[in-house]
Amino acid sequence: MRQYFDVIIIGAGIAGCATALALRQQLPHLSILLLERRKNTPQSFRIGETLPPQAMALLQQLDLLAQFRLRGDVVSLGNRSAWGSSQLSENLFLYSCYGHGWHIDRASFDNWMAQQAERAGATILHDTTVTGIPVYERQHWHLGVTQNDHAARNIEAPIVVDASGMSVFFSRSRNINVVAQDKLIAIFRYYQTDDTSAADNGGDGYTLVESCSYGWWYSAGLPHGRRVIALMTDSDLARTENLLQEAIWRDALLSTQHTCTRFAHAEPLTSLHIKPAHSQQLERSCGQGWYAVGDAASTFDPLSSLGMYKALRHGLLASYAIRDDLLDKTGTCEKYQHIFNAEFRHYQHMHRQYYSLEQRFANAPFWQRRQRTTVSSDSSRNIYDTVMDNGFP
Ligand SMILES: Cc1cc2nc3c(=O)[nH]c(=O)nc-3n(C[C@H](O)[C@H](O)[C@H](O)COP(=O)(O)OP(=O)(O)OC[C@H]3O[C@@H](n4cnc5c(N)ncnc54)[C@H](O)[C@@H]3O)c2cc1C
Repeated sequence: MRQYFDVIIIGAGIAGCATALALRQQLPHLSILLLERRKNTPQSFRIGETLPPQAMALLQQLDLLAQFRLRGDVVSLGNRSAWGSSQLSENLFLYSCYGHGWHIDRASFDNWMAQQAERAGATILHDTTVTGIPVYERQHWHLGVTQNDHAARNIEAPIVVDASGMSVFFSRSRNINVVAQDKLIAIFRYYQTDDTSAADNGGDGYTLVESCSYGWWYSAGLPHGRRVIALMTDSDLARTENLLQEAIWRDALLSTQHTCTRFAHAEPLTSLHIKPAHSQQLERSCGQGWYAVGDAASTFDPLSSLGMYKALRHGLLASYAIRDDLLDKTGTCEKYQHIFNAEFRHYQHMHRQYYSLEQRFANAPFWQRRQRTTVSSDSSRNIYDTVMDNGFP
Protein backbone atom coordinates (compact mmCIF):
# COMPACT_ATOMS: atom_id res chain seq x y z
CA MET A 1 0.00 0.00 0.00
CA ARG A 2 1.18 3.54 -0.68
CA GLN A 3 2.68 5.51 2.15
CA TYR A 4 1.69 9.06 1.24
CA PHE A 5 -1.79 10.69 1.15
CA ASP A 6 -3.05 14.28 0.95
CA VAL A 7 -5.31 13.84 4.00
CA ILE A 8 -5.41 11.09 6.64
CA ILE A 9 -8.56 10.78 8.75
CA ILE A 10 -8.33 8.79 11.99
CA GLY A 11 -11.69 7.07 12.56
CA ALA A 12 -14.35 6.09 9.99
CA GLY A 13 -17.37 6.98 12.16
CA ILE A 14 -19.92 9.54 10.96
CA ALA A 15 -17.62 12.53 11.46
CA GLY A 16 -14.68 10.92 9.64
CA CYS A 17 -16.83 9.74 6.73
CA ALA A 18 -18.61 13.13 6.46
CA THR A 19 -15.20 14.86 6.30
CA ALA A 20 -14.04 12.50 3.53
CA LEU A 21 -17.28 12.96 1.56
CA ALA A 22 -17.26 16.75 1.84
CA LEU A 23 -13.58 16.91 0.84
CA ARG A 24 -14.07 14.68 -2.20
CA GLN A 25 -17.05 16.83 -3.23
CA GLN A 26 -15.00 20.04 -3.22
CA LEU A 27 -11.53 18.78 -4.07
CA PRO A 28 -11.93 15.51 -6.03
CA HIS A 29 -8.21 15.31 -6.79
CA LEU A 30 -7.27 14.82 -3.09
CA SER A 31 -6.15 11.36 -1.99
CA ILE A 32 -7.91 10.60 1.31
CA LEU A 33 -7.22 7.72 3.67
CA LEU A 34 -9.60 6.74 6.49
CA LEU A 35 -8.10 4.54 9.22
CA GLU A 36 -10.59 2.53 11.27
CA ARG A 37 -9.72 0.18 14.09
CA ARG A 38 -13.01 -1.76 13.84
CA LYS A 39 -13.09 -4.82 11.59
CA ASN A 40 -15.10 -4.58 8.37
CA THR A 41 -17.77 -6.97 9.63
CA PRO A 42 -21.38 -5.92 10.27
CA GLN A 43 -21.96 -5.09 13.94
CA SER A 44 -25.27 -6.06 15.49
CA PHE A 45 -25.80 -3.10 17.80
CA ARG A 46 -24.52 0.43 18.21
CA ILE A 47 -25.99 3.03 20.56
CA GLY A 48 -27.16 6.50 19.39
CA GLU A 49 -30.21 6.11 17.18
CA THR A 50 -32.23 9.35 16.81
CA LEU A 51 -31.27 11.32 13.74
CA PRO A 52 -33.00 14.69 14.24
CA PRO A 53 -34.82 16.46 11.38
CA GLN A 54 -32.18 19.15 10.89
CA ALA A 55 -29.64 16.46 9.94
CA MET A 56 -31.56 16.04 6.65
CA ALA A 57 -30.23 19.38 5.40
CA LEU A 58 -26.67 18.17 5.98
CA LEU A 59 -27.27 14.80 4.30
CA GLN A 60 -28.63 16.79 1.37
CA GLN A 61 -25.50 18.93 1.30
CA LEU A 62 -23.39 15.76 1.22
CA ASP A 63 -25.58 14.50 -1.62
CA LEU A 64 -26.74 11.53 0.48
CA LEU A 65 -30.38 12.33 1.18
CA ALA A 66 -32.02 10.43 -1.69
CA GLN A 67 -29.97 7.29 -0.90
CA PHE A 68 -30.65 7.69 2.82
CA ARG A 69 -34.41 7.68 2.26
CA LEU A 70 -34.15 4.27 0.56
CA ARG A 71 -32.61 2.65 3.68
CA GLY A 72 -35.89 1.81 5.40
CA ASP A 73 -35.20 3.40 8.79
CA VAL A 74 -38.04 4.20 11.18
CA VAL A 75 -39.82 7.56 11.19
CA SER A 76 -39.25 9.51 14.41
CA LEU A 77 -42.14 11.84 15.22
CA GLY A 78 -40.51 13.54 18.21
CA ASN A 79 -40.12 13.14 21.97
CA ARG A 80 -42.50 12.41 24.80
CA SER A 81 -41.02 13.35 28.11
CA ALA A 82 -41.90 13.22 31.78
CA TRP A 83 -39.40 15.88 32.78
CA GLY A 84 -40.21 18.40 35.50
CA SER A 85 -43.57 16.68 36.00
CA SER A 86 -44.89 13.12 36.00
CA GLN A 87 -47.20 14.11 33.12
CA LEU A 88 -45.97 13.35 29.60
CA SER A 89 -45.47 16.32 27.33
CA GLU A 90 -44.82 16.12 23.60
CA ASN A 91 -42.27 17.87 21.45
CA LEU A 92 -43.28 17.08 17.88
CA PHE A 93 -40.70 17.13 15.10
CA LEU A 94 -43.53 17.86 12.70
CA TYR A 95 -43.39 21.51 13.76
CA SER A 96 -39.77 21.60 12.63
CA CYS A 97 -39.17 23.14 9.22
CA TYR A 98 -37.29 19.95 8.27
CA GLY A 99 -40.21 17.58 8.98
CA HIS A 100 -39.77 14.38 10.98
CA GLY A 101 -36.56 12.69 12.13
CA TRP A 102 -35.49 9.05 12.01
CA HIS A 103 -34.76 6.19 14.38
CA ILE A 104 -31.95 4.41 12.62
CA ASP A 105 -30.21 1.07 12.94
CA ARG A 106 -27.02 2.79 14.00
CA ALA A 107 -24.57 -0.03 13.24
CA SER A 108 -25.88 -0.31 9.69
CA PHE A 109 -25.96 3.51 9.28
CA ASP A 110 -22.26 3.81 10.21
CA ASN A 111 -21.40 1.04 7.69
CA TRP A 112 -23.51 2.79 5.08
CA MET A 113 -21.64 6.09 5.64
CA ALA A 114 -18.32 4.25 5.19
CA GLN A 115 -19.58 2.72 1.93
CA GLN A 116 -20.61 6.18 0.68
CA ALA A 117 -17.15 7.56 1.50
CA GLU A 118 -15.50 4.67 -0.38
CA ARG A 119 -17.82 5.14 -3.32
CA ALA A 120 -16.84 8.83 -3.41
CA GLY A 121 -13.20 7.81 -3.83
CA ALA A 122 -11.76 7.72 -0.28
CA THR A 123 -9.68 4.70 0.75
CA ILE A 124 -10.67 2.97 4.02
CA LEU A 125 -8.42 0.62 5.93
CA HIS A 126 -10.36 -1.39 8.53
CA ASP A 127 -8.85 -3.31 11.42
CA THR A 128 -6.17 -0.62 11.39
CA THR A 129 -5.21 1.23 14.56
CA VAL A 130 -3.14 4.35 14.75
CA THR A 131 -0.60 3.88 17.53
CA GLY A 132 2.27 5.80 19.08
CA ILE A 133 2.85 9.53 19.02
CA PRO A 134 2.27 11.37 15.72
CA VAL A 135 5.31 13.36 14.61
CA TYR A 136 5.19 16.58 12.53
CA GLU A 137 8.31 16.99 10.40
CA ARG A 138 8.96 19.03 7.25
CA GLN A 139 5.26 19.98 7.06
CA HIS A 140 4.10 16.34 7.12
CA TRP A 141 2.49 14.21 9.79
CA HIS A 142 4.05 10.77 10.28
CA LEU A 143 1.71 8.22 11.83
CA GLY A 144 2.42 4.68 13.01
CA VAL A 145 -0.34 2.22 12.04
CA THR A 146 -0.90 -1.43 12.85
CA GLN A 147 -3.13 -3.41 10.51
CA ASN A 148 -4.48 -6.89 11.35
CA ASP A 149 -1.99 -7.12 14.22
CA HIS A 150 0.96 -6.91 11.79
CA ALA A 151 4.07 -4.91 12.66
CA ALA A 152 3.60 -1.13 12.77
CA ARG A 153 4.50 0.91 9.68
CA ASN A 154 4.54 4.59 8.87
CA ILE A 155 2.24 6.61 6.67
CA GLU A 156 2.29 10.35 6.10
CA ALA A 157 0.20 13.32 5.00
CA PRO A 158 0.37 17.09 5.28
CA ILE A 159 -3.08 17.12 6.92
CA VAL A 160 -4.55 14.86 9.62
CA VAL A 161 -8.16 14.87 10.84
CA ASP A 162 -8.84 13.49 14.31
CA ALA A 163 -12.24 11.76 14.01
CA SER A 164 -11.48 9.14 16.65
CA GLY A 165 -14.58 9.85 18.77
CA MET A 166 -14.49 10.18 22.55
CA SER A 167 -11.07 8.49 22.70
CA VAL A 168 -9.64 11.67 21.06
CA PHE A 169 -6.64 9.58 20.05
CA PHE A 170 -4.59 12.03 17.98
CA SER A 171 -5.01 15.09 20.16
CA ARG A 172 -4.54 13.23 23.46
CA SER A 173 -1.35 11.64 22.23
CA ARG A 174 -0.11 15.19 21.55
CA ASN A 175 -0.99 16.20 25.13
CA ILE A 176 -3.88 18.50 24.23
CA ASN A 177 -6.25 18.68 27.17
CA VAL A 178 -9.76 17.27 27.06
CA VAL A 179 -12.03 19.04 29.54
CA ALA A 180 -14.80 16.77 30.88
CA GLN A 181 -17.95 18.43 32.26
CA ASP A 182 -19.57 15.52 34.12
CA LYS A 183 -19.49 11.74 34.67
CA LEU A 184 -22.56 10.68 32.69
CA ILE A 185 -22.75 7.06 31.52
CA ALA A 186 -25.39 5.04 29.68
CA ILE A 187 -26.43 1.62 31.02
CA PHE A 188 -28.50 0.11 28.23
CA ARG A 189 -29.96 -2.98 26.71
CA TYR A 190 -31.78 -3.98 23.52
CA TYR A 191 -35.14 -5.71 23.37
CA GLN A 192 -37.07 -7.52 20.67
CA THR A 193 -40.83 -7.19 20.22
CA ASP A 194 -43.10 -9.00 17.78
CA ASP A 195 -44.39 -5.57 16.84
CA THR A 196 -42.91 -5.84 13.32
CA SER A 197 -46.33 -5.49 11.76
CA ALA A 198 -46.73 -1.88 12.92
CA ALA A 199 -46.81 0.55 10.02
CA ASP A 200 -43.44 2.09 10.78
CA ASN A 201 -42.02 -1.10 12.28
CA GLY A 202 -40.68 0.84 15.25
CA GLY A 203 -43.42 1.17 17.84
CA ASP A 204 -45.18 4.49 18.29
CA GLY A 205 -42.44 6.58 16.63
CA TYR A 206 -41.53 8.60 19.75
CA THR A 207 -38.45 8.72 21.94
CA LEU A 208 -39.64 8.48 25.52
CA VAL A 209 -37.64 10.36 28.16
CA GLU A 210 -38.40 10.03 31.88
CA SER A 211 -36.42 11.55 34.70
CA CYS A 212 -35.82 9.92 38.10
CA SER A 213 -33.82 10.84 41.19
CA TYR A 214 -30.53 9.31 39.93
CA GLY A 215 -30.79 10.44 36.29
CA TRP A 216 -33.13 9.72 33.42
CA TRP A 217 -34.31 6.94 31.13
CA TYR A 218 -34.77 7.00 27.41
CA SER A 219 -36.24 4.43 25.08
CA ALA A 220 -36.89 4.28 21.36
CA GLY A 221 -38.22 1.92 18.71
CA LEU A 222 -35.76 0.70 16.08
CA PRO A 223 -36.09 -1.09 12.73
CA HIS A 224 -37.05 -4.81 12.78
CA GLY A 225 -39.16 -4.55 15.95
CA ARG A 226 -36.18 -3.81 18.18
CA ARG A 227 -36.21 -1.38 21.09
CA VAL A 228 -33.41 0.25 23.04
CA ILE A 229 -33.72 1.36 26.63
CA ALA A 230 -31.01 3.28 28.47
CA LEU A 231 -30.55 4.58 31.98
CA MET A 232 -28.41 7.71 32.04
CA THR A 233 -26.69 8.38 35.37
CA ASP A 234 -23.29 9.36 36.74
CA SER A 235 -20.63 6.64 36.97
CA ASP A 236 -20.10 7.10 40.74
CA LEU A 237 -23.87 7.04 41.44
CA ALA A 238 -24.24 3.89 39.31
CA ARG A 239 -21.67 2.20 41.52
CA THR A 240 -23.11 3.32 44.87
CA GLU A 241 -26.68 2.43 43.78
CA ASN A 242 -25.49 -0.89 42.21
CA LEU A 243 -27.21 0.07 38.97
CA LEU A 244 -24.67 -1.87 36.92
CA GLN A 245 -26.19 -5.09 38.28
CA GLU A 246 -28.84 -6.46 35.99
CA ALA A 247 -31.39 -7.22 38.73
CA ILE A 248 -31.07 -3.75 40.30
CA TRP A 249 -31.25 -2.06 36.89
CA ARG A 250 -34.42 -4.06 36.10
CA ASP A 251 -36.00 -3.13 39.46
CA ALA A 252 -35.20 0.53 38.73
CA LEU A 253 -36.87 0.16 35.34
CA LEU A 254 -39.95 -1.42 36.91
CA SER A 255 -40.24 1.54 39.28
CA THR A 256 -40.68 4.00 36.37
CA GLN A 257 -44.17 5.23 35.62
CA HIS A 258 -44.08 5.36 31.80
CA THR A 259 -40.97 3.59 30.53
CA CYS A 260 -41.75 0.19 32.03
CA THR A 261 -45.13 -0.03 30.28
CA ARG A 262 -43.38 0.27 26.92
CA PHE A 263 -41.48 -2.95 27.56
CA ALA A 264 -44.25 -5.10 28.95
CA HIS A 265 -44.21 -7.44 25.92
CA ALA A 266 -40.58 -7.17 24.93
CA GLU A 267 -37.88 -9.84 25.32
CA PRO A 268 -34.30 -8.83 26.18
CA LEU A 269 -31.98 -9.34 23.19
CA THR A 270 -28.72 -8.47 24.93
CA SER A 271 -27.23 -8.18 28.38
CA LEU A 272 -26.54 -4.74 29.90
CA HIS A 273 -23.96 -2.57 28.11
CA ILE A 274 -22.21 0.48 29.53
CA LYS A 275 -20.89 3.45 27.58
CA PRO A 276 -19.45 6.79 28.64
CA ALA A 277 -21.76 9.66 27.68
CA HIS A 278 -20.23 12.68 29.44
CA SER A 279 -19.91 16.10 27.84
CA GLN A 280 -16.35 17.09 27.01
CA GLN A 281 -14.47 19.59 24.90
CA LEU A 282 -11.01 19.48 23.42
CA GLU A 283 -9.02 22.51 24.53
CA ARG A 284 -7.96 23.23 20.92
CA SER A 285 -9.82 21.86 17.88
CA CYS A 286 -7.08 22.54 15.33
CA GLY A 287 -3.42 23.37 14.87
CA GLN A 288 -0.71 23.24 12.24
CA GLY A 289 -1.93 20.66 9.68
CA TRP A 290 -4.59 19.06 11.89
CA TYR A 291 -8.30 19.39 12.70
CA ALA A 292 -10.57 17.59 15.18
CA VAL A 293 -14.17 16.72 14.24
CA GLY A 294 -17.23 15.05 15.83
CA ASP A 295 -16.91 13.61 19.32
CA ALA A 296 -13.13 14.04 19.14
CA ALA A 297 -13.70 17.82 19.18
CA SER A 298 -16.64 17.93 21.59
CA THR A 299 -19.17 15.52 23.02
CA PHE A 300 -22.77 16.46 23.80
CA ASP A 301 -25.14 14.90 26.35
CA PRO A 302 -27.35 12.33 24.52
CA LEU A 303 -30.34 14.32 25.85
CA SER A 304 -29.68 16.74 22.98
CA SER A 305 -29.88 13.98 20.30
CA LEU A 306 -27.46 16.15 18.36
CA GLY A 307 -24.27 14.03 18.30
CA MET A 308 -24.75 12.74 14.74
CA TYR A 309 -25.93 16.12 13.46
CA LYS A 310 -22.80 17.66 14.97
CA ALA A 311 -20.58 14.95 13.42
CA LEU A 312 -22.00 15.69 9.94
CA ARG A 313 -21.68 19.43 10.49
CA HIS A 314 -18.08 19.19 11.67
CA GLY A 315 -17.21 17.11 8.60
CA LEU A 316 -18.44 19.93 6.36
CA LEU A 317 -16.70 22.61 8.45
CA ALA A 318 -13.39 20.72 8.40
CA SER A 319 -13.59 20.37 4.62
CA TYR A 320 -13.98 24.17 4.23
CA ALA A 321 -11.06 24.77 6.59
CA ILE A 322 -8.82 22.27 4.75
CA ARG A 323 -9.73 23.83 1.40
CA ASP A 324 -8.76 27.27 2.76
CA ASP A 325 -5.56 25.81 4.20
CA LEU A 326 -4.59 24.39 0.83
CA LEU A 327 -5.29 27.78 -0.74
CA ASP A 328 -2.86 29.28 1.80
CA LYS A 329 -5.56 31.54 3.27
CA THR A 330 -4.62 33.05 6.61
CA GLY A 331 -6.58 32.74 9.86
CA THR A 332 -8.21 29.40 8.95
CA CYS A 333 -7.48 27.70 12.26
CA GLU A 334 -8.59 30.76 14.29
CA LYS A 335 -11.90 30.85 12.43
CA TYR A 336 -12.41 27.10 12.94
CA GLN A 337 -11.61 27.38 16.65
CA HIS A 338 -13.95 30.34 17.05
CA ILE A 339 -16.89 28.39 15.53
CA PHE A 340 -16.21 25.37 17.74
CA ASN A 341 -15.93 27.47 20.92
CA ALA A 342 -19.19 29.27 20.12
CA GLU A 343 -20.93 25.97 19.40
CA PHE A 344 -19.85 24.47 22.73
CA ARG A 345 -20.76 27.59 24.74
CA HIS A 346 -24.21 27.52 23.15
CA TYR A 347 -24.54 23.82 23.99
CA GLN A 348 -23.56 24.40 27.64
CA HIS A 349 -26.17 27.14 27.93
CA MET A 350 -28.92 24.87 26.52
CA HIS A 351 -27.78 22.01 28.72
CA ARG A 352 -28.10 24.10 31.92
CA GLN A 353 -31.45 25.50 30.85
CA TYR A 354 -32.93 22.12 30.07
CA TYR A 355 -31.69 20.37 33.21
CA SER A 356 -33.01 23.22 35.35
CA LEU A 357 -36.55 22.42 34.16
CA GLU A 358 -36.52 19.35 36.43
CA GLN A 359 -36.93 20.56 40.03
CA ARG A 360 -38.61 17.51 41.62
CA PHE A 361 -35.30 15.93 42.66
CA ALA A 362 -33.51 19.11 43.68
CA ASN A 363 -31.78 17.37 46.63
CA ALA A 364 -30.47 14.41 44.64
CA PRO A 365 -26.75 14.59 43.70
CA PHE A 366 -27.35 13.90 39.98
CA TRP A 367 -29.58 16.97 39.68
CA GLN A 368 -27.68 19.20 42.09
CA ARG A 369 -24.59 18.78 39.91
CA ARG A 370 -26.50 20.05 36.88
CA GLN A 371 -28.66 22.78 38.31
CA ARG A 372 -26.54 25.79 38.84
CA THR A 373 -29.09 28.09 37.16
CA THR A 374 -32.85 28.20 37.16
CA VAL A 375 -35.08 29.68 34.50
CA SER A 376 -38.79 30.08 34.07
CA SER A 377 -40.32 27.12 32.30
CA ASP A 378 -41.77 29.26 29.51
CA SER A 379 -38.48 30.76 28.38
CA SER A 380 -36.75 27.35 28.67
CA ARG A 381 -39.35 25.70 26.56
CA ASN A 382 -38.73 28.26 23.83
CA ILE A 383 -35.00 27.67 23.98
CA TYR A 384 -35.45 23.92 23.86
CA ASP A 385 -37.75 24.20 20.86
CA THR A 386 -35.21 26.40 19.14
CA VAL A 387 -32.50 23.78 19.56
CA MET A 388 -34.74 21.00 18.36
CA ASP A 389 -35.87 23.00 15.35
CA ASN A 390 -32.63 24.56 14.28
CA GLY A 391 -29.81 22.74 16.00
CA PHE A 392 -26.80 24.70 17.05
CA PRO A 393 -25.64 27.63 14.96
C1 LIG B 1 -25.93 6.51 25.08
C2 LIG B 1 -25.75 7.39 23.89
C3 LIG B 1 -26.86 7.74 23.14
C4 LIG B 1 -26.73 8.60 22.04
N1 LIG B 1 -27.84 8.93 21.34
C5 LIG B 1 -27.73 9.74 20.27
C6 LIG B 1 -28.89 10.07 19.49
O1 LIG B 1 -29.99 9.60 19.76
N2 LIG B 1 -28.72 10.91 18.45
C7 LIG B 1 -27.49 11.44 18.11
O2 LIG B 1 -27.39 12.20 17.14
N3 LIG B 1 -26.39 11.13 18.82
C8 LIG B 1 -26.47 10.29 19.88
N4 LIG B 1 -25.34 9.95 20.58
C9 LIG B 1 -24.04 10.55 20.20
C10 LIG B 1 -23.47 9.95 18.89
O3 LIG B 1 -23.52 8.55 18.93
C11 LIG B 1 -22.05 10.46 18.70
O4 LIG B 1 -22.04 11.86 18.83
C12 LIG B 1 -21.48 10.07 17.32
O5 LIG B 1 -21.26 8.68 17.27
C13 LIG B 1 -20.16 10.77 17.05
O6 LIG B 1 -19.63 10.30 15.84
P1 LIG B 1 -18.05 10.37 15.60
O7 LIG B 1 -17.83 9.92 14.19
O8 LIG B 1 -17.52 11.68 16.03
O9 LIG B 1 -17.43 9.32 16.64
P2 LIG B 1 -17.55 7.66 16.71
O10 LIG B 1 -18.89 7.29 16.22
O11 LIG B 1 -17.15 7.34 18.07
O12 LIG B 1 -16.45 7.21 15.65
C14 LIG B 1 -15.07 7.24 15.95
C15 LIG B 1 -14.37 6.11 15.20
O13 LIG B 1 -12.96 6.20 15.38
C16 LIG B 1 -12.41 4.90 15.52
N5 LIG B 1 -11.11 5.03 16.23
C17 LIG B 1 -10.92 5.51 17.49
N6 LIG B 1 -9.59 5.51 17.80
C18 LIG B 1 -8.94 5.02 16.70
C19 LIG B 1 -7.55 4.77 16.39
N7 LIG B 1 -6.57 5.02 17.27
N8 LIG B 1 -7.24 4.23 15.17
C20 LIG B 1 -8.23 3.96 14.27
N9 LIG B 1 -9.57 4.18 14.51
C21 LIG B 1 -9.90 4.71 15.70
C22 LIG B 1 -13.49 4.16 16.32
O14 LIG B 1 -13.41 2.76 16.13
C23 LIG B 1 -14.79 4.74 15.73
O15 LIG B 1 -15.30 3.98 14.66
C24 LIG B 1 -25.44 9.10 21.69
C25 LIG B 1 -24.32 8.73 22.42
C26 LIG B 1 -24.46 7.88 23.52
C27 LIG B 1 -23.24 7.49 24.32
